[in-house]
Amino acid sequence: MSETTDSLHFIEQIIQDDLDAGFPSKELRFRFPPEPNGYLHIGHVKAIALNFNLGKRFGAPVNLRFDDTNPAKESIEYVNAIKKDIQWLGYQWDKECYASDYFEQLFVWANELINSGLAYVDSQNSEDIASQKGTPTQAGTNSPFRDTPPEVNSRLFKEMAEGKHKEGSFVLRAKIDMASPNMLMRDPVIYRILNKEHHRTGTKWCIYPMYDWTHGESDYIESVSHSLCTLEFKPHRDLYEWFLSHISPLEHKYPKQREFARLNLSYTVTSKRKLAVLIENGTVAGWDDPRMPTISGLRRRGFTPQSLRNFVKTAGISKRENVIDVSLLEFCVREDLNTKASRFMAVLDPIKLVITNYPEGSTEMLETENNPEDASQGSRLLPFSKNLFIERNDFKEEANRKYFRLTIGKEVRLKSGYIIEGQKVFKDNQGNVVEVHCTYDPESKSGSGSLASQRKVKGTIHWVNQETAQQAKVNLYDRLFNVENPDQNKDQEFTDFINTDSFKQVTAQVEPSLVNLNPGTNIQFQRLGYFVVDDDSTKNKLVFNKTLGLRDTWSKKK
Ligand code: ATP
Ligand code: MG
Repeated sequence: MSETTDSLHFIEQIIQDDLDAGFPSKELRFRFPPEPNGYLHIGHVKAIALNFNLGKRFGAPVNLRFDDTNPAKESIEYVNAIKKDIQWLGYQWDKECYASDYFEQLFVWANELINSGLAYVDSQNSEDIASQKGTPTQAGTNSPFRDTPPEVNSRLFKEMAEGKHKEGSFVLRAKIDMASPNMLMRDPVIYRILNKEHHRTGTKWCIYPMYDWTHGESDYIESVSHSLCTLEFKPHRDLYEWFLSHISPLEHKYPKQREFARLNLSYTVTSKRKLAVLIENGTVAGWDDPRMPTISGLRRRGFTPQSLRNFVKTAGISKRENVIDVSLLEFCVREDLNTKASRFMAVLDPIKLVITNYPEGSTEMLETENNPEDASQGSRLLPFSKNLFIERNDFKEEANRKYFRLTIGKEVRLKSGYIIEGQKVFKDNQGNVVEVHCTYDPESKSGSGSLASQRKVKGTIHWVNQETAQQAKVNLYDRLFNVENPDQNKDQEFTDFINTDSFKQVTAQVEPSLVNLNPGTNIQFQRLGYFVVDDDSTKNKLVFNKTLGLRDTWSKKK
C-alpha cells in the first residue's frame, strides 16, 4: 500500500534510530490497544494506521490487545465491533490479546511489590485519598497506612481477592513518592474491589487492576518493543517505567512508550465517553448512526476504508496537538468516490414533467455511461417516456438569466436524453407546482451524432421515468455540531452545540436499476451527491443514505 512509501515520520525515525543502534529488527513488535468500552472512532483510525503501517514498513507483527480492566464499562459487543472495524479498514492483526489474560501474572507481580515494601493496602475512601494528593506545586500527605508491614498488606490483599471485603473498602496503592512533581507518581491506586462479572474472566476476580498498572505490564508480557500512545499519556510514562523496573524481569527487553498527537477533527467530538452521551440522550440512533464519527457510523454513511486511510495519512503523525478541518476528510471521500461510485438518476423532491409531443404509450431505452471517470464500469439502459419526474428546484416559472434549469419558454437538456422546452405549469390550491408541460426536440437525442444532438443549451437536469420509477427513502444528514470546537469550550458542555437539524428523511423517485444493488454499495445520484445503499435496504424497501454533496457547500454557508 502507498501508505508506507514516503519519508520517515518522527515515530518511524525513533524506530530506525533504535535499529541503527543495534536493536534486533526481529524483536520489533507493535500493538493497537483499545479498551472495549465503546466503538472505535475516526481518531482511532490514526492510531490503527500508525501501528499497522509500522508493522508493514519494518516487517514486524502487530497485535490487537484489548485493555479490558474495567468490567463495569466493557462488553463483548464492543470487542466484536472493534475487530470488525479494524478488518473493514483493511488491517489484520497478528495475535488477538486481552489484558484480562494476564490478571494472574499481574496479581503475582502485585504481591511481589507488597513483599518488597513497594505497595500497601489503604482503607481510606477515595475522597480522603484524593484530598491527600496535594497540588502540582505542593507535596501530598502520606497515607496513615503507608507504612503498614508487608505481612499485613499481604494478608489484606489476599482477603480482597477472596471477596472478603466490600467494594470501596480497600485499595492497593503503589508506594512511590507523595512529593513527586508528577502527580501520577503520588502512590497511585493499582487495584480496586469491583463485584462485577467480567466478559472474559466471569466471576473469578472481584479485584481488578487499574489501567496504568495493567497497560505497560501487558506490553511487556507480549514483547511489544514500541508502545505508542497519544500525548495525554506523556505524564504516565514515568509510571509506566517505574512499574516495569520494579517487577521481576522476563527474559526479553522492556517496551518503550512514545507519544504522538491525537487526531482532533473540527465539528466533531472524538471521545468514546462523549459519543456514548449522544446515544444515551437520543441525539443519534446508535453507535452506527451515519452522523456519528465512529468507524461504523462513517461506514454506514458511505465513507470508504481507502478514504479514511488517505485522510489519516494526509493529516500526518505529529508531536503537537492540532485540529484537522473536517473538509479534508470530505475531500478524501469525494476523491475516492468520484472514481468508484457509479452514477444513477434519483429525484429527491419530485414534480411531474409531461412531454406533450412525445408519443403516448411508448418507452425507449437510453444508453448512459455508468461512470465518466472509469470506462470499465460500462453503461446501462434508462427507460424514457412521455411522463417523467424532475426535481422541484430544477423548475422556475420565471427566472433570471443566471438560472440554467427549466423555465417556461427556455430550453434545457434532460441528462442522457433530449432537449426540452418548458410550455405550461400546473399548480395546486396552495400555489405549489405539481406538473410542468414541455415539448422535446426528437432530433436532439444525446449521443445520436445528429446536428441537433450537438446543439449547446445552458443547462442539463436529471429525471426519472414515472412508469418504471421506484420509491425510495433517502436519509439526508448534516453535521452533528454547529461549531468548529464543540469539545474545547471550557464554559459550555459539548451537548450545547448539537445541531438539532442534522437529519431529514425524504421519499424519492429513483431509476429501476437501483433495486439490484447490495447494501453498502457507494453510488452517485447525478447532480445531487454521493449516496450509499443502507444496511437495512431491501429490493422492496429501498433506503439510501447521503454520504456527502458533490462539492463543499458548507464553507459557503458559513
Ligand atoms: P476515548 O477517550 O475516545 O474513549 P480512548 O483513548 O479511551 O478514547 P482507547 O480505546 O483507550 O480509546 O484507545 C486506543 C488507542 O487509540 C490508544 O492508544 C489511544 O491513544 C488511541 N487514540 C484514542 N483516541 C485517539 C485520537 N483521537 N487520535 C489518535 N489516537 C487515538
Ligand atoms: Mg483511553
